[in-house]
Amino acid sequence: MRPLSMVDLKSQYKNIKTEIDAAIQGVIDSSQFIKGQDVTLLQSELASYLGVKHVIACGNGTDALQIALMALGLKPGDEVITTDFTFIATVEVVALLGLKPVLVDVDPKTFCINADKIEEKITPQTKAIVPVHLFGQCADMQKIMDIANRHNLFVVEDTAQALGADFSFDDGKKLKAGTIGHVGCTSFFPSKNLGCYGDGGALFTNNDEIAEQIRYISNHGMKVRYHHDMIGVNSRLDTIQAAILRVKLPRLDSYNKARQEAAAKYNIELENVEGVVTPSKIDSSSHIYHQYTLLVKDGRRNDLKKFLDEKGIPCMIYYPIPIHQQKAFAPYVDENEMFSVSQQLADEVLSLPMHTELDDEQISVITTAVKSFFQKQ
Ligand SMILES: *Cc1c(COP(=O)(O)O)cnc(C)c1O
Repeated sequence: MRPLSMVDLKSQYKNIKTEIDAAIQGVIDSSQFIKGQDVTLLQSELASYLGVKHVIACGNGTDALQIALMALGLKPGDEVITTDFTFIATVEVVALLGLKPVLVDVDPKTFCINADKIEEKITPQTKAIVPVHLFGQCADMQKIMDIANRHNLFVVEDTAQALGADFSFDDGKKLKAGTIGHVGCTSFFPSKNLGCYGDGGALFTNNDEIAEQIRYISNHGMKVRYHHDMIGVNSRLDTIQAAILRVKLPRLDSYNKARQEAAAKYNIELENVEGVVTPSKIDSSSHIYHQYTLLVKDGRRNDLKKFLDEKGIPCMIYYPIPIHQQKAFAPYVDENEMFSVSQQLADEVLSLPMHTELDDEQISVITTAVKSFFQKQ
């Protein structure tokens, strides 16, 4: 059996080595390491895959989120509503720009922002909502877009964990995650569903003006060379990463399918184990399992983690501390406010290995170990 790991980028590389090596060599031969042709081509290929007008590549997913908020012209003191249960980057960039993050508890099924709790947080200062499509499944974009339209708010989707997922609206319309709000942001961090071999990110929008702002801001606020009309940043996807992503993009759907198949096998093995809850899937969204995350009941999560660690079965807690309990964010949080669902998740979540090369034998070893924990009393 191949060794178990949370992600297995080595095995994935072995299967596409010839193409990847040629792509990297091609960039070295051209020596266009920055702004090479592969960057432009990746942007248009990704735009057509997603069905979105503009894709602008950048340095990483955190930069994408920051640039998105800058491009919307938000001013210090403006409020941005987002989720209490996410990777820190989502909330960090809000605070970094002098905006005020306003946290909302999450839905117990999807672990994404609870759309029914957004409206009570809207004030005259609220300018944007930043939903995160956590672990590969979309937040309730139907409700979120309704609220945003009614209150005239921007929506910036954090699609770092859900590139390729679809959301279906009540009228039957289906859109790719990241193309529903005003701006979508993603990360090409190696372990993401579409990952490069270093850092990378991108922004998506159908709005020409926002796209133009994003292009300027990510290039030092520069419209005409050495004329800087606004304060920007330096955030680029390098050509080698773009060339690698161009090899992997045509495989994204089959990679996501491999994750779904692995998740289905996990579900069959674990769904009747008392004490664990397998991931829920909502009807309106596909789930591309960036993570396969169990809930472990009865206060036994840490014991299960220890048991699996001792058996050499990889598992991880995403995320052990909700944002409202992070020291850095104390200034933005009312200490009497309860975030009961995100708190419960932080105590109960446990993610199992999930990647494109998981085989039946590996899944069997992992699920047998989980089951044996609940059998030994
Ligand atoms: C990975 C991730 C990011 C940040 O992406 P980087 O490329 O690492 O900067 C942002 N939000 C979420 C939800 C993520 O999972």
